[in-house]
Amino acid sequence: MSAFPKSTVLGYPRIGPRRELKRALESYWDGRSSRAELERTGAELRERTWRDLARLGLEGLPSNTFSLYDQVLDTAVLLGAVPSRYRDADDPYFAMARGTDGLAPLRMTKWFDTNYHYIVPEIGPDTVFKLDAAKPLAEVREARALGHETRPVVVGPVTFLLLGSALDRLEEALACYAELLAALAAEGVAWVQLDEPALVGDRTPEELAAVRTAYDRLGALSERPGLFVASYFGDLGESLPVLAGTPVEAIGIDLVRGAVPAADLTGKTVVAGVVSGRDVWRTSPERALAALASVRASRVTVSTSCSLQHVPYDVSAESDLDPALRERLAFAEQKVAEVVALAATGFHGTAPARPSVALAGPVPAEGRGPYAVRAAAQAEHLRLPPLPITTIGSFPQTGELRAARAAVTAGTLSRADYERRVEAEIEHVIRLQERLGLDVLVHGEPERNDMVQYFAEHLDGFAVTKNGWVQSYGSRCTRPPILHGDVGRPEPITVRWATYAQSLTDKPVKGMLTGPVTIVAWSFVRDDLPLRDVVFQVADAVRDEVRDLEAAGVSIIQVDEPALRELLPLRRAAQADYLEWAVAAYRRATSGASDRTQIHTHLCYSDADQILAAIDGLDADVTTIESARSGARILGAVSSFGRGLGPGVYDIHSPRVPGAGEVEESLRGIVGVLPVERVWVNPDCGLKTRTYEEVEASLTNVVTATRRLRAGL
Ligand code: GLN
Ligand code: ZN
Repeated sequence: MSAFPKSTVLGYPRIGPRRELKRALESYWDGRSSRAELERTGAELRERTWRDLARLGLEGLPSNTFSLYDQVLDTAVLLGAVPSRYRDADDPYFAMARGTDGLAPLRMTKWFDTNYHYIVPEIGPDTVFKLDAAKPLAEVREARALGHETRPVVVGPVTFLLLGSALDRLEEALACYAELLAALAAEGVAWVQLDEPALVGDRTPEELAAVRTAYDRLGALSERPGLFVASYFGDLGESLPVLAGTPVEAIGIDLVRGAVPAADLTGKTVVAGVVSGRDVWRTSPERALAALASVRASRVTVSTSCSLQHVPYDVSAESDLDPALRERLAFAEQKVAEVVALAATGFHGTAPARPSVALAGPVPAEGRGPYAVRAAAQAEHLRLPPLPITTIGSFPQTGELRAARAAVTAGTLSRADYERRVEAEIEHVIRLQERLGLDVLVHGEPERNDMVQYFAEHLDGFAVTKNGWVQSYGSRCTRPPILHGDVGRPEPITVRWATYAQSLTDKPVKGMLTGPVTIVAWSFVRDDLPLRDVVFQVADAVRDEVRDLEAAGVSIIQVDEPALRELLPLRRAAQADYLEWAVAAYRRATSGASDRTQIHTHLCYSDADQILAAIDGLDADVTTIESARSGARILGAVSSFGRGLGPGVYDIHSPRVPGAGEVEESLRGIVGVLPVERVWVNPDCGLKTRTYEEVEASLTNVVTATRRLRAGL
């Protein structure tokens, strides 16, 4: 078996430096181009990636890291795990990814603790595992024709089955993987990478046994490439000795998130992830070399901590960034250069200890009055009807508004003209809500490009990029802001729009803010301070905004925290500490409000179970939460909160308009479980992705349903 290359990366971005794949996909989906044209764009992107990696001097080039939609979906196809209902669709792959006439797509959820979303494999009784190795084989051949030998990357059997909740199907899946390895060996492939990020989480003894079975079995095959099992996003912990006890030749270890293992791994190659694939900072060579020098193994390869798919392509495309900041940044291309440079040193460098960072002291338990006191003050002040009707904040973002924002950036529209358009939109949204009969209005968030980027653009300590796109799912990308310095709020951000909206109506208008955890979760964050301290800095900025909103006469303020669950550490042992400071940060952000000001929060996920106590701990006067899809389960769980609750009465993620009867039924279900005097009526998330037509029709039915219920009180 040939030695593992000295330098590699676990994966690379694939959306294209100018989002070429996004455009090609959307054009194909809209019927404006053919499948062949889409394939051509894919081939161009792969060629360019291999060429760039080779040009930068990287030895070990990965393949099969390209995907038209998602690498987990690709693995499902590879193993034949295509549910039968999709097989007759025009394009079964995209039917699974996005749905098609009459067929809902497969479920999608977050990839571990990243903002990337994968398609959840559906493995049921009728799933017949059957290898279809066309894609990895084609990429190997395609690269070879371009002069590159590559290492195919595939999601490993244990992670794949755990994601599909089907570890009991290990034997059948392994038969497929064995067949794949034989096919790759026959193709002359020297190494294969099996990604097993699930091994950095808490694993049961049965799951660890599955790891042993899988890699003993695959390792025992006579016709196979070298086996490289890649872990990432944390420490392997108890999985490491299990994996090390199998015949796999190479093990990938995340040395950015995790520590250098104490174990002696003589006999193995360790693919040492010392260059972070999760942040945008230059690697400290001293720190990386120290880690590399302390790994005890037969051979050490320099690598990234995970695939680079989670970072943008190239810093040099960011001409507008402050040069001092740019110096500190490394995107995918720069990170590859770092891997190559580290490998070239032979790991001879100084090895200073990691600088210790001071932890902030305990956060004072600042507080508002007890809920009973607050509720009485708010009832007196707000005088709302029973079952108050509201929305989550955003109204449809029209193409005109987006175009107007682009025109301001391009210099073809003046700021004053833009602001007049935003005001016109706010007035339209206020009048619409009055006409529909809502009780607590919103200004509709027309001035926001995104609920995090908007705040990042108005806070000190953040930078935003021009081309720093990162794939979120399929063709969707986000441009996470870069939190690089101390956060401050030089001046009020939302007060101008909130007070304008309030000036138009006698109904209360809710102020809308994004919470500190969510702002940090959806940004790239400095790594020279503990995350907790960074979140508290943001919390203080939000608190200033809360105070200014209140002073300007806004009596209801919503602070959204939809990403609270996202930063939850993968290991249970670390979760309590995180939840404690995350909740403390939220309370700090809202603690400037008087008892009379009503604080709302909004969270949008169905699997809130793990963090229910934390959501309760936010102590918001009103919590609006997704429930349209998760149903009664979540209601029972939140019923103990003892404060205001707004479980979504319909699902805004679908263009379907719910009938009044349907909403009434959902509402009756809610008041059957929750005390009616605490219930709020609202959709389950913001309305920005819907059209005005859908919103108007849906909210009309929500009001009708609510009035029917009120009549019976
Ligand atoms: N206030 C935001 C909106 O309505 C909340 C979005 C979210 O929950 N992700 O758009
Ligand atoms: Zn939401």
